[in-house]
Amino acid sequence: MRPERAARALVAGLAVGVATACAPDDETSHSRFLAFGTLVEVDVYGTDEKTAARAAADIEACFHVLHDAWHPWAEGELGRINRAIAAGEPAPIGEDLAGLLAEASRLSRDSGGLFDPTLGRLVALWGFADDEQSPVAPPAGARIRALLDAGTGPDRLRVDGRTISSTSRAIAVDLGGFAKGVAVDRAIERLRRLGVTNAIVNAGGDLRVIGRHGDRPWRIGIRHPRRPGIMAELEVDDGESVFTSGDYERHFVYRGRRYHHILDPRTGEPAANAVSVTVLGDDAARADAAATALFVAGAGAWRAVAGGLGVEHVMLVAPDGRIEMSTPMAGRLRLTRPPAGGEPRIELEAAT
Ligand code: ADP
Ligand code: MG
Repeated sequence: MRPERAARALVAGLAVGVATACAPDDETSHSRFLAFGTLVEVDVYGTDEKTAARAAADIEACFHVLHDAWHPWAEGELGRINRAIAAGEPAPIGEDLAGLLAEASRLSRDSGGLFDPTLGRLVALWGFADDEQSPVAPPAGARIRALLDAGTGPDRLRVDGRTISSTSRAIAVDLGGFAKGVAVDRAIERLRRLGVTNAIVNAGGDLRVIGRHGDRPWRIGIRHPRRPGIMAELEVDDGESVFTSGDYERHFVYRGRRYHHILDPRTGEPAANAVSVTVLGDDAARADAAATALFVAGAGAWRAVAGGLGVEHVMLVAPDGRIEMSTPMAGRLRLTRPPAGGEPRIELEAAT
């Protein structure tokens, strides 16, 4: 993981930690580790130290296994599948990954194709598949068009028993748009099985909670997309997840323009009509995929896609700083710097 990513994740993590930092008699056990290229924090409230430490260790081990298995280009299961697809050959697929792919395909269909778990070749062409280095310039338009012309989408994949094949050699499976959500769901399941009744699993600002923090709900911050610190606060109830996709996570600036890692499957280019999208929902996997899909849909267009995905609580920051929110989200979220009047807007200057 690149050091600047760790630093960014820490900012988001600290924002989330605000709620617990000053509590007297704090009964929270904190654990933190790096996984999925980000800082993961597991806070367990009101459970004995030993159970909390065991839960966090289990979750850390599980996250590392999943990261290796689901990495699109490493030596694990998905890496092998993608190399087989590129060679035009079938590959074995395990039950777990096949299930995950089926779920990703459903979410893709529900999002009208805007969440597309087969964009791996495009993500790599843009240089965002390299975990160590940021790209410096956009790829040639002709190379983007060649991949788009070959077609993308889960319809090109066929899973037959324990074998996967693709009708196109130009796609690769990339579950980066929702793998963190799936992992967080599994962490929460694990905590529940261990009898933990109050906890938060926070993967770089993307999180899910169980129960409450003592006599009040877990309170979290949503980071400002351009500045250190938060732009909004939210109380999160038992079982709820909050996931954000932003153009600040992985990006580079070329000739004054920002290029980031969330690609529009219709153009093969970074989606241009959002700066960040936050989704609150029950299921972390769905919230994660929805944040990515609604980011691609962009300002003015996300509502229909949210309907298809069954997501009700949405906040989107548009490229001009305007904030668009669903009515249920407006009822839950508190902007930390309320607008002086007129429509909600945040300052986005220093847009690189
Ligand atoms: P993050 O992982 O930084 O929180 P996202 O959840 O939005 O952000 O996922 C972005 C990742 O998803 C990209 O790095 C890439 O691997 C993959 N991706 C990019 N565009 C799409 C898309 N349209 N649909 C699904 N996955 C995508
Ligand atoms: Mg996502």
